[in-house]
Amino acid sequence: MTYMMLLRTSRLVCSALLILLPAPYVAAQEMTARELIQKIRENVTVEWADETVDTFKAGDPDQKVTGIATTFIATADVLKRARDLNCNLIITHEPTFYNHLDETDHLHDDPVYQAKMKFIEDNGLIIFRFHDHIHRTDPDGIIQGVLDHLNWHKNVISMDPVILEFPKMFVNELAQDLTIAFDKYPMHVIGDPKMSFTRAAFAPGAPGYMAHIRLLQRDDVDVVIGGEVPEWESVLYVRDAAALNMNKAMILIGHVNSEEEGMKYCRDWLKNFLPGIPVHFVPAGTSFYVPK
Ligand SMILES: [Zn+2]
Repeated sequence: MTYMMLLRTSRLVCSALLILLPAPYVAAQEMTARELIQKIRENVTVEWADETVDTFKAGDPDQKVTGIATTFIATADVLKRARDLNCNLIITHEPTFYNHLDETDHLHDDPVYQAKMKFIEDNGLIIFRFHDHIHRTDPDGIIQGVLDHLNWHKNVISMDPVILEFPKMFVNELAQDLTIAFDKYPMHVIGDPKMSFTRAAFAPGAPGYMAHIRLLQRDDVDVVIGGEVPEWESVLYVRDAAALNMNKAMILIGHVNSEEEGMKYCRDWLKNFLPGIPVHFVPAGTSFYVPK
């Protein structure tokens, strides 16, 4: 077969394939980032809030989308890996520019901000934050992803807040299980490691110290499994409770560990209503490492 014949045949096969493909396949590939985010707005189970951090943070929303990368946090490293996967739309759970509202007025002269923005512009990337509504939709996509990862669906006795029941165990045992589940990540454990318990609350992310304290005040919660909090807030509260002989403990698994799997769940959720467009989960990984 000559090269020209081969070309003609492959063109014919391509056209035949296009005819066979369902309509949404082509449509999704033609979508701009703005149109695609509109699909997300239509697929969450809640009204889209007027006041929300779920907005475009960088790039041109009217660009066509070549692929989507979901991630916990759009680090420069995540952006590079998304670019290498030919994904120009990055859907990130947490901020891109170092504060909750992604305010950048104070950063214009900053070398890190400038270099990150240059990378985004040079590579035609578009960044959208998906935080409030992935938590508010039913089920909460972030919590679903983490429960999937930890195989904890069977332990859930309530979802809002998330209360879990375990066979009677020690705090130390749960912390060790979590260390294994999160790739040997060193857990921060507060309280008596030999304290036994059956009920724990899961409070992912950084919900603030009062959220932790409200959970710890409950008679049916002995342990809070959290993401992160300053050491002088609920960490101090649990140290006091333990020193005053109360059956309370907390395990901080890190903000990334406590939510990242939720953005893997988000990848699968997007695939349900965006057939034909490549969607990848790009893990940011934990922020800290232990020196060897
Ligand atoms: Zn979150």
